[in-house]
Amino acid sequence: MRAIALDFNSRVPAEIRLDSPASPRQGEVLFRVEACGVCATDRELVRFHYGAPPDGETKLVLGHEVLGEVVATGAGVTRFSPGDRVVPTLRRACPSLCPACAAHRCDLCATGDYLERGIVRAHGYFTEFAVDPAENLVAIPRSLGDRAILAEPLSVVEKAVATALAAHPFHPRTALVTGCGPVGMLTAFALLARGFDVELASLEAADEARPAIAVRAGVRYVRLPDSPSQADLVFEVSSHPDAAALGLSRLRTGGVMVFIGASDTPIPLTSLEALRRNLTVAAIINAAGIHFEAALQDLARFPQAWLDGFVERRPFDAWRESLTVTPAAPKVVHMLD
Ligand SMILES: [Zn+2]
Ligand SMILES: [Zn+2]
Repeated sequence: MRAIALDFNSRVPAEIRLDSPASPRQGEVLFRVEACGVCATDRELVRFHYGAPPDGETKLVLGHEVLGEVVATGAGVTRFSPGDRVVPTLRRACPSLCPACAAHRCDLCATGDYLERGIVRAHGYFTEFAVDPAENLVAIPRSLGDRAILAEPLSVVEKAVATALAAHPFHPRTALVTGCGPVGMLTAFALLARGFDVELASLEAADEARPAIAVRAGVRYVRLPDSPSQADLVFEVSSHPDAAALGLSRLRTGGVMVFIGASDTPIPLTSLEALRRNLTVAAIINAAGIHFEAALQDLARFPQAWLDGFVERRPFDAWRESLTVTPAAPKVVHMLD
């Protein structure tokens, strides 16, 4: 079967041939890949900024945003049947099974020795078939259609929103999102769906594809360096070195700032100022099954008009452009046939 992989010797991405997976073993599920999304993480992997092949191998199959259809199940699997649609979570438990991994919260792994499919020491899904333990798969209702391909990026958003809502001490009503990538836009949508007044701030011109989609959904767009409004919650998704300072300057008393994007720039906040303003600063990465389930609920209630133009579908063969060029549409998805 075909697969798109990074070669850590020649340091280039390439299409390779892999053996199709064997029949699923006890507790495992074999699924056909229907669609595989590409994101900024993949484009950073292609620049070898991070990532690693599985131990003892030199290549890493890419792809961590995937929608699959179950082909066969191993003994003992009762939750899935052939024809079911599934999306996998990404992290796999560390060998010492830290308390977080033991509790199926590998997103909070304490040792850092986890595997991450398509990213760190475990092959991804930019291929034709894959096998996972049933416990790492989320069941996808057919009624969601192809928007289910957004479950993985939205799962990270759900974790960030849950973190912010749990941390805010009063009744947050306004939110600022910095960064107009797919995760920033999905964050804006998740907040809109919860009744928030949402502002999205980024560097793109207001008439570019991404801001236009957000504005159509009901988000206010602020092109930087114009100043965004103050907000109860700020979500930093751009990874821009100036974004932390901007977000903190717009945060209201009692506010919560959540980093989904990150940079090396120190956060410009003294403990005295945080104390005076009752601020909470949080940072999150990755997501657990509960966040995928929350993503499915949000995907089911996002109006179709919000998602029109969000996903650009491409054939498998167009992988090279997707892995090197940021598309105009928020999300590029490769369809497998
Ligand atoms: Zn991604
Ligand atoms: Zn762990």
